[in-house]
Amino acid sequence: MLYTSTRNNNVRVESASAIARGISADGGLYVSTEIPRISTEEFEAIAVMTYNERAAYVLSKFLTDFTAEELSKCVADAYTGKFGGENIAPIESVNNSKYVLELWHGPTCAFKDMALQLLPHLLKTSVRKISDGREIVILVATSGDTGKAALEGFKDVDGTKIIVFYPEDGVSNIQKLQMVTQEGGNVGVCAVKGNFDDCQTGVKKIFTDPAIAEVLSENNMAFSSANSINWGRLAPQIVYYISAYADMMNNGEIDYDGEKVNIVVPTGNFGNILAAYYAKLMGLPVGKLICASNENNVLTDFINTGVYDRNRAFRTTMSPSMDILISSNLERLLFHLSGGDSERVSRWMHELSTTGRYEVDDDVKQQLSEMFCADFCNDESTQAAIREEYQSDGYLIDTHTAVAFSVYDKYVAATGDAGTPAIIVSTASPYKFSESVLGAVSEEILADNEFDIINELSVVSGTPIPAPLLNLRGKEVRFGDVCTAKDMKAQVFKMLGVENNPKTRELVYANA
Ligand SMILES: *Cc1c(COP(=O)(O)O)cnc(C)c1O
Repeated sequence: MLYTSTRNNNVRVESASAIARGISADGGLYVSTEIPRISTEEFEAIAVMTYNERAAYVLSKFLTDFTAEELSKCVADAYTGKFGGENIAPIESVNNSKYVLELWHGPTCAFKDMALQLLPHLLKTSVRKISDGREIVILVATSGDTGKAALEGFKDVDGTKIIVFYPEDGVSNIQKLQMVTQEGGNVGVCAVKGNFDDCQTGVKKIFTDPAIAEVLSENNMAFSSANSINWGRLAPQIVYYISAYADMMNNGEIDYDGEKVNIVVPTGNFGNILAAYYAKLMGLPVGKLICASNENNVLTDFINTGVYDRNRAFRTTMSPSMDILISSNLERLLFHLSGGDSERVSRWMHELSTTGRYEVDDDVKQQLSEMFCADFCNDESTQAAIREEYQSDGYLIDTHTAVAFSVYDKYVAATGDAGTPAIIVSTASPYKFSESVLGAVSEEILADNEFDIINELSVVSGTPIPAPLLNLRGKEVRFGDVCTAKDMKAQVFKMLGVENNPKTRELVYANA
């Protein structure tokens, strides 16, 4: 299995290179040149496997340059003992045809753990395969969830170091606490005076500065990326769709002869729903892929009209992990729907970066409307969905998951398709967004700080607080540094322990 670039379909690399590099030199994303299939007999075999076995099996179809032993080890190191229960991605039947795929039982209580627990091991193995055994340095700019999930994933993975920058006033208290109390000998965290864009711009500058790369190289280190366009983050996400279907077969909830399911995904960067699309192409019997957005509904419009237009106001909502106007992983879908036409994809992406808008051709529009449905909801409907789901089924959902519930109801109302079993993807624990969730299920909020709100939510709903959030209280703060955007470079050198190298000093001075 080889990989090509969405912006140059002459590129051919193996998966280890695609994962180690993260992004193609032409600015495109790596995509596999073929989509492997899973036959009906294979589904039956998968049904009796554990989650780890399913993961190694599905990954072996895409990462053909990895040995079976390497994949099993990566998966075991990633998932064993790190997630709440036996089944790390359980599917809950909440009523009639609604099934909720809970992806938040990992160490940070959000679905990004599913990929970010595995990526460090895939990355480490990839770098070892393609060369040189240099130490990998991961830089992350985060608006909250990704930073913590990446820290947990890379924590004490040897051969790696990770440094996370977050905007000083741009993350929630819980998110900040989760990061500044991070354990591990190879981690660093620093607040930046500025917003998320300042962090991201700073990280990109450091990442692409040849002089800094040279300093790292001399110290036997090299940068790599953990962001959501890395193929090593996408591939692990395909697994849980196949696993969920297998669990439903085992539970007698769907027929063995290929009964279709709809899949509803609360979407931001288009990574999670793209993984569902890949699962469908591999042979998973999927009816509609339902793309649920909040008021930043650029994807709703795109799927319904074929016009992508980011020229609109950015809205801050109660589902912040979906507050996104540029969904990077959509580029991969465009590549596949255009029949691998990297020239067209390059043109659209160029239009996006220059005018903020592009319109796809009729062939692409037609496939979009055959496979996908899309809608959005505002904060009021989000809270209403939390309340209704809690009152009717006694099931507590977070704000992101609630967007999916709300949009699914709209889908059923519009199409009458209530009979097809629906997998609704749940991306975060309700306790991660306690205030909004409590506000939806309770008349008034008595508590006035984050921890008391969490406790109150637990008392009101009678559900347990996830251990990783409970344990935050009273945890030692390890990272109090705050820097300006200009000082990020010096922070990186300091955290890597190369600040006293003469060349490094020169670089820091040059910037001062
Ligand atoms: C990142 C995130 C999403 C969006 O997922 P994409 O893959 O970016 O579409 C949804 N919900 C939560 C809780 C997230 O953290």
